[in-house]
Amino acid sequence: MRYRDQEMKRLLSATVFAALLFAAADARSVVKELAPGVWVRMGHRDRNQPANCGWVIFKDHVLVIDANYPWGAKEILPEIKKTTKLPIRYVFNTHYHGDHAYGGSLFTAEGAQIVCSQDCANEYRTKGQASWDKNTATGEFSLKPYKLAHPTITFGDSMAFDDGTHRVELRKAGPGHSKGDAVAWLPKERFLFTGDLCVNWKSGNNMADADADHDNWVRALDKMAAMKPATVIVGHGDLSDTGALTAQKAYLVDMISAVRKGIAAGKTGEEIAAAVDLTSHKIGSDPARNQASIIAMHKRFTK
Ligand SMILES: [Zn+2]
Repeated sequence: MRYRDQEMKRLLSATVFAALLFAAADARSVVKELAPGVWVRMGHRDRNQPANCGWVIFKDHVLVIDANYPWGAKEILPEIKKTTKLPIRYVFNTHYHGDHAYGGSLFTAEGAQIVCSQDCANEYRTKGQASWDKNTATGEFSLKPYKLAHPTITFGDSMAFDDGTHRVELRKAGPGHSKGDAVAWLPKERFLFTGDLCVNWKSGNNMADADADHDNWVRALDKMAAMKPATVIVGHGDLSDTGALTAQKAYLVDMISAVRKGIAAGKTGEEIAAAVDLTSHKIGSDPARNQASIIAMHKRFTK
Protein backbone atom coordinates (compact mmCIF):
# COMPACT_ATOMS: atom_id res chain seq x y z
CA MET A 1 0.00 0.00 0.00
CA ARG A 2 2.73 2.36 1.10
CA TYR A 3 4.72 1.56 -1.98
CA ARG A 4 1.70 2.31 -4.12
CA ASP A 5 1.17 5.67 -2.39
CA GLN A 6 4.74 6.63 -3.00
CA GLU A 7 4.55 5.43 -6.56
CA MET A 8 1.35 7.44 -7.04
CA LYS A 9 3.06 10.56 -5.66
CA ARG A 10 6.00 10.08 -7.95
CA LEU A 11 3.75 9.60 -10.94
CA LEU A 12 1.69 12.64 -10.02
CA SER A 13 4.68 14.91 -9.63
CA ALA A 14 6.07 13.61 -12.93
CA THR A 15 2.75 14.43 -14.58
CA VAL A 16 2.67 17.94 -13.07
CA PHE A 17 6.27 18.48 -14.15
CA ALA A 18 5.47 17.32 -17.69
CA ALA A 19 2.43 19.60 -17.80
CA LEU A 20 4.56 22.56 -16.68
CA LEU A 21 7.18 21.75 -19.30
CA PHE A 22 4.50 21.49 -21.94
CA ALA A 23 3.02 24.85 -20.91
CA ALA A 24 6.45 26.48 -21.06
CA ALA A 25 7.16 24.98 -24.50
CA ASP A 26 3.74 26.13 -25.67
CA ALA A 27 4.33 29.71 -24.52
CA ARG A 28 7.74 29.75 -26.22
CA SER A 29 6.41 28.34 -29.45
CA VAL A 30 3.85 31.11 -30.02
CA VAL A 31 6.43 33.29 -31.79
CA LYS A 32 8.83 31.45 -34.09
CA GLU A 33 11.66 32.50 -36.38
CA LEU A 34 11.08 30.45 -39.51
CA ALA A 35 14.26 31.66 -41.21
CA PRO A 36 16.66 34.53 -40.44
CA GLY A 37 14.48 37.65 -40.24
CA VAL A 38 11.21 35.85 -40.99
CA TRP A 39 8.88 35.45 -38.03
CA VAL A 40 5.47 34.05 -37.38
CA ARG A 41 3.17 34.52 -34.42
CA MET A 42 0.64 31.73 -34.17
CA GLY A 43 -2.98 32.64 -33.56
CA HIS A 44 -4.61 32.33 -30.14
CA ARG A 45 -8.13 31.10 -30.61
CA ASP A 46 -8.96 31.15 -26.90
CA ARG A 47 -8.04 34.84 -26.67
CA ASN A 48 -10.03 35.76 -29.79
CA GLN A 49 -6.85 36.33 -31.79
CA PRO A 50 -7.26 33.39 -34.15
CA ALA A 51 -5.20 34.53 -37.15
CA ASN A 52 -1.57 33.62 -37.73
CA CYS A 53 0.56 36.70 -38.39
CA GLY A 54 4.06 37.14 -39.74
CA TRP A 55 6.77 39.73 -40.15
CA VAL A 56 9.85 40.06 -42.31
CA ILE A 57 12.81 42.16 -41.19
CA PHE A 58 14.32 43.94 -44.19
CA LYS A 59 17.59 45.96 -44.01
CA ASP A 60 15.91 49.13 -42.77
CA HIS A 61 12.27 48.32 -42.04
CA VAL A 62 9.73 45.64 -41.17
CA LEU A 63 6.85 44.30 -43.25
CA VAL A 64 4.03 42.70 -41.26
CA ILE A 65 1.69 40.10 -42.72
CA ASP A 66 -1.84 40.33 -41.31
CA ALA A 67 -2.66 42.83 -38.58
CA ASN A 68 -4.97 40.59 -36.48
CA TYR A 69 -7.72 42.13 -34.35
CA PRO A 70 -6.78 45.31 -32.46
CA TRP A 71 -6.35 43.40 -29.18
CA GLY A 72 -4.13 40.91 -31.03
CA ALA A 73 -2.10 43.70 -32.68
CA LYS A 74 -1.54 45.17 -29.21
CA GLU A 75 0.24 41.97 -28.18
CA ILE A 76 2.00 41.43 -31.50
CA LEU A 77 3.64 44.88 -31.57
CA PRO A 78 5.84 44.27 -28.50
CA GLU A 79 6.60 40.78 -29.84
CA ILE A 80 7.91 42.35 -33.08
CA LYS A 81 9.90 44.92 -31.10
CA LYS A 82 11.63 42.13 -29.19
CA THR A 83 13.05 40.93 -32.52
CA THR A 84 14.13 44.25 -34.08
CA LYS A 85 14.53 47.97 -33.45
CA LEU A 86 13.70 48.79 -37.09
CA PRO A 87 10.46 50.64 -37.89
CA ILE A 88 7.37 48.84 -39.14
CA ARG A 89 6.70 50.47 -42.51
CA TYR A 90 4.15 48.17 -44.12
CA VAL A 91 1.33 45.88 -43.05
CA PHE A 92 0.13 43.60 -45.83
CA ASN A 93 -3.34 42.26 -45.12
CA THR A 94 -4.26 39.08 -47.00
CA HIS A 95 -7.92 40.19 -46.93
CA TYR A 96 -10.20 42.63 -45.17
CA HIS A 97 -11.86 40.34 -42.58
CA GLY A 98 -11.71 41.65 -39.02
CA ASP A 99 -9.55 38.92 -37.51
CA HIS A 100 -6.83 39.68 -40.10
CA ALA A 101 -7.26 43.39 -40.74
CA TYR A 102 -9.03 45.29 -37.97
CA GLY A 103 -5.84 45.80 -35.96
CA GLY A 104 -4.35 47.95 -38.73
CA SER A 105 -4.66 51.25 -36.85
CA LEU A 106 -2.29 50.01 -34.15
CA PHE A 107 0.38 49.75 -36.87
CA THR A 108 -0.49 53.00 -38.72
CA ALA A 109 -0.10 54.76 -35.35
CA GLU A 110 3.52 53.55 -35.50
CA GLY A 111 3.96 55.04 -38.99
CA ALA A 112 3.14 51.96 -41.09
CA GLN A 113 1.05 51.95 -44.25
CA ILE A 114 -1.50 49.24 -45.00
CA VAL A 115 -1.05 47.31 -48.23
CA CYS A 116 -3.56 45.02 -49.91
CA SER A 117 -5.00 44.20 -53.31
CA GLN A 118 -7.21 46.82 -54.98
CA ASP A 119 -10.23 44.53 -54.64
CA CYS A 120 -9.42 44.11 -50.95
CA ALA A 121 -9.24 47.92 -50.52
CA ASN A 122 -12.69 48.19 -52.13
CA GLU A 123 -13.99 45.56 -49.73
CA TYR A 124 -12.54 47.52 -46.78
CA ARG A 125 -14.57 50.57 -47.86
CA THR A 126 -17.81 48.64 -48.26
CA LYS A 127 -18.25 45.39 -46.31
CA GLY A 128 -15.31 45.99 -43.94
CA GLN A 129 -16.42 49.45 -42.82
CA ALA A 130 -20.08 48.32 -42.62
CA SER A 131 -19.36 45.36 -40.34
CA TRP A 132 -17.06 47.54 -38.22
CA ASP A 133 -19.86 50.12 -37.84
CA LYS A 134 -22.40 47.39 -37.03
CA ASN A 135 -20.20 45.78 -34.38
CA THR A 136 -21.75 46.03 -30.94
CA ALA A 137 -19.23 44.02 -28.91
CA THR A 138 -18.41 45.45 -25.51
CA GLY A 139 -15.63 44.79 -23.04
CA GLU A 140 -12.22 43.54 -24.08
CA PHE A 141 -13.37 42.81 -27.65
CA SER A 142 -15.05 46.16 -28.26
CA LEU A 143 -13.95 48.06 -31.38
CA LYS A 144 -15.00 51.39 -29.87
CA PRO A 145 -11.51 52.43 -28.71
CA TYR A 146 -10.19 51.94 -32.28
CA LYS A 147 -10.68 53.19 -35.84
CA LEU A 148 -10.62 51.16 -39.03
CA ALA A 149 -7.41 52.11 -40.83
CA HIS A 150 -7.84 51.73 -44.60
CA PRO A 151 -5.13 50.65 -47.06
CA THR A 152 -3.02 53.37 -48.66
CA ILE A 153 -0.99 51.14 -50.99
CA THR A 154 -2.81 48.79 -53.35
CA PHE A 155 -1.91 46.50 -56.23
CA GLY A 156 -3.80 44.81 -59.08
CA ASP A 157 -2.19 41.42 -59.67
CA SER A 158 1.03 41.62 -57.70
CA MET A 159 3.76 43.72 -56.14
CA ALA A 160 7.09 42.90 -54.57
CA PHE A 161 9.26 44.15 -51.72
CA ASP A 162 12.92 43.33 -52.36
CA ASP A 163 16.03 44.85 -50.80
CA GLY A 164 18.49 42.13 -51.73
CA THR A 165 18.23 40.42 -48.35
CA HIS A 166 14.57 39.50 -48.55
CA ARG A 167 12.00 39.31 -51.28
CA VAL A 168 8.29 39.21 -50.49
CA GLU A 169 5.90 38.92 -53.42
CA LEU A 170 2.27 39.82 -52.83
CA ARG A 171 0.11 37.98 -55.30
CA LYS A 172 -3.61 38.40 -55.85
CA ALA A 173 -5.18 34.94 -55.60
CA GLY A 174 -8.89 35.70 -55.17
CA PRO A 175 -11.74 35.83 -55.56
CA GLY A 176 -11.93 32.80 -53.31
CA HIS A 177 -12.56 33.18 -49.59
CA SER A 178 -13.27 36.88 -50.32
CA LYS A 179 -12.94 38.95 -53.50
CA GLY A 180 -9.54 40.48 -52.87
CA ASP A 181 -7.61 37.58 -51.31
CA ALA A 182 -3.87 37.83 -51.82
CA VAL A 183 -0.99 35.73 -50.54
CA ALA A 184 2.60 36.53 -49.54
CA TRP A 185 5.27 34.44 -51.22
CA LEU A 186 8.91 34.44 -50.14
CA PRO A 187 10.63 32.78 -53.10
CA LYS A 188 14.06 32.46 -51.45
CA GLU A 189 12.73 30.58 -48.42
CA ARG A 190 9.74 29.11 -50.31
CA PHE A 191 7.37 30.30 -47.58
CA LEU A 192 3.74 30.92 -48.46
CA PHE A 193 1.40 32.95 -46.23
CA THR A 194 -2.05 31.98 -47.49
CA GLY A 195 -4.48 34.01 -45.38
CA ASP A 196 -7.82 32.26 -45.16
CA LEU A 197 -7.56 30.61 -48.58
CA CYS A 198 -6.07 27.76 -46.56
CA VAL A 199 -6.63 26.74 -42.95
CA ASN A 200 -5.86 23.52 -41.11
CA TRP A 201 -7.53 23.97 -37.74
CA LYS A 202 -10.56 21.84 -36.90
CA SER A 203 -13.13 24.60 -37.44
CA GLY A 204 -13.41 24.69 -41.22
CA ASN A 205 -13.70 27.93 -43.17
CA ASN A 206 -15.80 31.03 -43.22
CA MET A 207 -17.53 30.44 -46.56
CA ALA A 208 -20.08 33.21 -46.13
CA ASP A 209 -18.42 36.25 -47.68
CA ALA A 210 -20.83 37.88 -50.15
CA ASP A 211 -18.09 37.85 -52.82
CA ALA A 212 -16.68 34.39 -52.11
CA ASP A 213 -16.02 32.37 -55.28
CA HIS A 214 -15.70 28.75 -54.21
CA ASP A 215 -14.83 27.40 -57.68
CA ASN A 216 -12.06 29.91 -58.15
CA TRP A 217 -10.90 29.17 -54.60
CA VAL A 218 -10.14 25.60 -55.75
CA ARG A 219 -8.16 26.95 -58.72
CA ALA A 220 -6.27 29.30 -56.37
CA LEU A 221 -5.30 26.31 -54.19
CA ASP A 222 -4.01 24.48 -57.29
CA LYS A 223 -1.89 27.51 -58.24
CA MET A 224 -0.49 27.72 -54.72
CA ALA A 225 0.37 23.99 -54.72
CA ALA A 226 2.14 24.48 -58.08
CA MET A 227 4.44 27.02 -56.37
CA LYS A 228 5.75 24.09 -54.29
CA PRO A 229 6.10 25.95 -51.00
CA ALA A 230 8.36 24.38 -48.37
CA THR A 231 6.34 25.91 -45.53
CA VAL A 232 2.73 26.96 -45.70
CA ILE A 233 1.65 29.48 -43.08
CA VAL A 234 -2.11 29.00 -43.07
CA GLY A 235 -4.60 31.65 -41.95
CA HIS A 236 -5.72 29.58 -38.96
CA GLY A 237 -4.05 26.49 -37.56
CA ASP A 238 -0.57 24.99 -37.51
CA LEU A 239 2.47 25.50 -39.70
CA SER A 240 2.34 23.06 -42.57
CA ASP A 241 3.44 22.29 -46.12
CA THR A 242 1.60 21.56 -49.38
CA GLY A 243 -0.39 18.94 -47.43
CA ALA A 244 -2.48 21.79 -45.99
CA LEU A 245 -3.32 22.99 -49.53
CA THR A 246 -4.31 19.49 -50.62
CA ALA A 247 -6.48 18.92 -47.53
CA GLN A 248 -8.16 22.32 -47.91
CA LYS A 249 -8.89 21.57 -51.57
CA ALA A 250 -10.31 18.10 -50.81
CA TYR A 251 -12.68 19.55 -48.19
CA LEU A 252 -13.79 22.34 -50.51
CA VAL A 253 -14.27 20.05 -53.52
CA ASP A 254 -16.36 17.60 -51.48
CA MET A 255 -18.53 20.42 -50.19
CA ILE A 256 -18.99 21.99 -53.63
CA SER A 257 -19.98 18.66 -55.16
CA ALA A 258 -22.44 17.88 -52.33
CA VAL A 259 -24.04 21.31 -52.61
CA ARG A 260 -24.33 21.12 -56.42
CA LYS A 261 -25.86 17.61 -56.23
CA GLY A 262 -28.32 18.86 -53.63
CA ILE A 263 -29.30 21.83 -55.76
CA ALA A 264 -29.83 19.55 -58.77
CA ALA A 265 -32.13 17.40 -56.60
CA GLY A 266 -34.10 20.50 -55.60
CA LYS A 267 -32.97 20.53 -51.95
CA THR A 268 -32.64 23.59 -49.75
CA GLY A 269 -29.34 24.59 -48.14
CA GLU A 270 -30.63 23.39 -44.77
CA GLU A 271 -31.64 20.00 -46.21
CA ILE A 272 -28.22 19.54 -47.81
CA ALA A 273 -26.49 20.61 -44.60
CA ALA A 274 -28.48 18.08 -42.57
CA ALA A 275 -27.70 15.22 -44.97
CA VAL A 276 -24.01 15.75 -45.78
CA ASP A 277 -21.23 14.57 -43.45
CA LEU A 278 -17.80 16.15 -44.00
CA THR A 279 -16.34 15.18 -40.62
CA SER A 280 -13.88 12.77 -42.21
CA HIS A 281 -11.87 15.88 -43.17
CA LYS A 282 -9.69 17.21 -40.34
CA ILE A 283 -10.82 20.79 -41.01
CA GLY A 284 -14.40 19.51 -41.15
CA SER A 285 -14.33 18.12 -37.59
CA ASP A 286 -17.01 20.54 -36.41
CA PRO A 287 -20.41 19.53 -37.88
CA ALA A 288 -22.04 22.86 -36.95
CA ARG A 289 -19.38 24.81 -38.89
CA ASN A 290 -19.78 22.47 -41.88
CA GLN A 291 -23.52 23.04 -41.86
CA ALA A 292 -23.14 26.82 -41.74
CA SER A 293 -20.67 26.64 -44.63
CA ILE A 294 -22.95 24.43 -46.72
CA ILE A 295 -25.86 26.82 -46.22
CA ALA A 296 -23.64 29.80 -47.15
CA MET A 297 -22.33 28.01 -50.24
CA HIS A 298 -25.85 27.06 -51.30
CA LYS A 299 -26.85 30.71 -51.02
CA ARG A 300 -23.92 31.76 -53.25
CA PHE A 301 -24.70 29.07 -55.85
CA THR A 302 -28.39 29.92 -56.08
CA LYS A 303 -28.35 33.72 -55.97
ZN1 LIG B 1 -11.28 35.54 -43.45
